[in-house]
Amino acid sequence: MEQKVDFEIVVIGGGIVGLASAYKIAMGHPDIRIAVLEKEERIAAHQTGHNSGVIHSGLYYTPGSTKAKTCAKGRKELEAFAKKHKIPYEICGKIIVATQQKELTDLERVFHNGQENEIEGIEKIGPKQIKEIEPYCHGIAGIRVPCTGIIDFTMVANKLAELIEKKSDGNKILTSHKVVRFDKHDFFTNVVTNKEAFSAKFIINCAGLQSDRIAKAAGSEPGMRIVPFRGDYYELTEAAKEKVKSLIYPVPDPAFPFLGVHFTRKIDGAVECGPNAVFSFKREGYGKTDFSFKDSWDSLSYRGTLKMFFKNWQYGLGEYARAFCKRWFLRQLQRLIPSLEAHDIRPGNAGVRAQAVGPRGEAIDDFKIEKRANFIHVLNAPSPAATASLAIGEYINEIATGYFKLKD
Ligand SMILES: Cc1cc2nc3c(=O)[nH]c(=O)nc-3n(C[C@H](O)[C@H](O)[C@H](O)COP(=O)(O)OP(=O)(O)OC[C@H]3O[C@@H](n4cnc5c(N)ncnc54)[C@H](O)[C@@H]3O)c2cc1C
Repeated sequence: MEQKVDFEIVVIGGGIVGLASAYKIAMGHPDIRIAVLEKEERIAAHQTGHNSGVIHSGLYYTPGSTKAKTCAKGRKELEAFAKKHKIPYEICGKIIVATQQKELTDLERVFHNGQENEIEGIEKIGPKQIKEIEPYCHGIAGIRVPCTGIIDFTMVANKLAELIEKKSDGNKILTSHKVVRFDKHDFFTNVVTNKEAFSAKFIINCAGLQSDRIAKAAGSEPGMRIVPFRGDYYELTEAAKEKVKSLIYPVPDPAFPFLGVHFTRKIDGAVECGPNAVFSFKREGYGKTDFSFKDSWDSLSYRGTLKMFFKNWQYGLGEYARAFCKRWFLRQLQRLIPSLEAHDIRPGNAGVRAQAVGPRGEAIDDFKIEKRANFIHVLNAPSPAATASLAIGEYINEIATGYFKLKD
């Protein structure tokens, strides 16, 4: 006789990846009961609610990688989803701008990468076109990416949550439920939260900044660790906003997983500039001096983190300097918009990225999704996972359908 469980599937994490996965499974398998457990009082409380809101084109990612495939597919699906559910978005395009001769080789590399990834409409532009698109921006060469857009990912997450619950009375989105432990039985697992326990046949770990800890609690050695990197943003004052029409990015340094300090016009009209990328002493710490002993110990006692720091200490110091010194941050921004002055910017939001680091100190670049026992673990879902969320959700639905043998 089949064992009765509270939910066939429990998804841990009410960020956009957990919600998109639950949504795709709920749509594909309307008869199964699915719960999303989120430890905070609201969904999208961490990376999803602290990101830049950019619908990335997909031109940067290694051709053939899961990132490249899901970004382009997810972007198109996200646009259709936003249109259908009346979530404001705008395909405003972006430019990537080289300001120095030494960046031209990397600019060319990005362009070819975009071509290999078949990103629609990308074109090389010169200083005159840069000025036509962004009159305050200075550059010697650039790439125009017309299919990049902006959206509020918290609104997308809220709509996904609504649709999951609407699909079936058995589906639940439960906030303020922190998963603390798993009690495994022969045919099910009790997912124990700070409030109550739920029996489930299968569990999908989409815990973002806590994904390695959830994997460990489930009895798996993840083979990586989440190292948190905080990004601080400034925003342009009302008077300075006219200096940015849409999105302006520098040429990324291929040695680092971050895109460099850029300007982003958000869907609410604000213009964000940043971020830097500094090691965070707290996984979910958004203040410059936030500290958690447990989180710091977990990061700093891991040889992968130490190796990463050893390799990149000079870069790291520069980023720290920018975190605490507005003048240095401004200097970085002035490379793209030379007329920007200190009174044009004021402190804005901050976000913390879950950077998965391997034992040799390597930043794990691609999405990392693993099947172990009755779990699927999403161990690494960095940018552009918000853009790609619906495609990642579909990918996880496909894995779950086969691995968990779900009925349609
Ligand atoms: C500063 C910044 C800017 C970014 N900009 C962009 C961008 O412009 N475009 C883009 O596509 N991507 C961007 N990204 C990346 C994107 O935001 C993330 O890749 C994406 O949000 C990851 O979603 P997630 O669901 O995996 O993680 P999260 O949104 O962090 O969700 C994980 C959830 O799990 C919950 N959780 C953790 N532990 C437990 C537990 N024990 N029990 C229950 N719940 C738990 C957390 O509370 C959290 O809500 C950016 C990221 C950052 C940090």
